[in-house]
Amino acid sequence: MKLFIPGPTEVSQKVLEAMSCPMIYHRSPEFKNLFTEIISLLQQFLKTKNMIFLSTSSASGLMEGAVRNCIEKRALFLTCGAFGERWKAIASACGKEVESLDFAWGQGISIEQLEKALQKKHYEAVFLVHNESSTGVMNRLEAIATSLRRYPETLFIVDTVSSAFGTMIDVDSLGIDVCITGVQKALAVPPGMALATLSTRALEKAARCSNRGYYFDFIEAEKNFATGFTTTTPSISHCFALKESLEGILKEGFTNRIQRHHDMAIYTRNWAKEYFDIFTDEHFLSPTITCIKNTRGIDVEGMNKYLQSCGFIIANGYGKIRDKTFRIGHMGEHTVDDVRELLAAIEHYIKLC
Ligand SMILES: *Cc1c(COP(=O)(O)O)cnc(C)c1O
Repeated sequence: MKLFIPGPTEVSQKVLEAMSCPMIYHRSPEFKNLFTEIISLLQQFLKTKNMIFLSTSSASGLMEGAVRNCIEKRALFLTCGAFGERWKAIASACGKEVESLDFAWGQGISIEQLEKALQKKHYEAVFLVHNESSTGVMNRLEAIATSLRRYPETLFIVDTVSSAFGTMIDVDSLGIDVCITGVQKALAVPPGMALATLSTRALEKAARCSNRGYYFDFIEAEKNFATGFTTTTPSISHCFALKESLEGILKEGFTNRIQRHHDMAIYTRNWAKEYFDIFTDEHFLSPTITCIKNTRGIDVEGMNKYLQSCGFIIANGYGKIRDKTFRIGHMGEHTVDDVRELLAAIEHYIKLC
């Protein structure tokens, strides 16, 4: 079954095999080498000199970690979909005061409204979901980063879970203090590991925050990172798989990979406009996920059943747009040819209806 969903994505045979390497001791020089190689490739692709917190958890773990380490009292959350809402819920659950600028699903964050909010009040941190997997919105990271540059006392914390490695994220030049991603999206590794780049400013802030907890404590992670290890036993199998995936990216060429994602997105969007319509505001289209408006009133569950008989699976709409939309994830290992095959199967289903 080929997964065309916004994560987990298809995993190559090579990465699956790497995942089954025999265990090594996580306090051995062998592990330290593995860890160091992974970190240096991640830093290269994310264009950062910052330390990287490699976490054995899903990405939501580090979303919670960022809340606990970077907010003393209150922060601003920019939301336009389900994952932005999840981040607010996490912050509330951690006892933080949540303020937010909420935009309609399918829309992106308005820079004008963000600037107004920043002028009115000081925020400890701004939290942004770069690529809203629920609506296929990719927010304007550069414009938001430019606005925030005028507020050096405000941390910039970004969820790039479904965009990093499918598009360029230039962490240091954008001034991102905490950049979070998961391995099961465009990195095409089985789910179970996540990572975050941590700036000096983020670490300084963490040192001032109480009740950071233990598992996601940035300060504890920094101490261990300095010696080439993780705080607790990591999923060593994931480390092997992640290294394999990163070396694959090196082999393909990072810019080729980004171009491939761009090409898949263009192909999918053009197709969607011909057969349905795109749900997302045209100014905010994502290179990794296309959210399609179900203009034909097709029974998405029925369509997915048919697709599964052809060896494909796509995603239904998320939450409150479940029945109005469906989503195609085109990231990770897929190629334009794979996308073409999937879309041909959908066309066939439409004709059957
Ligand atoms: C998948 C996803 C998450 C959640 O990741 P988990 O690994 O399931 O915790 C968060 N944000 C975005 C944008 C995502 O696409």
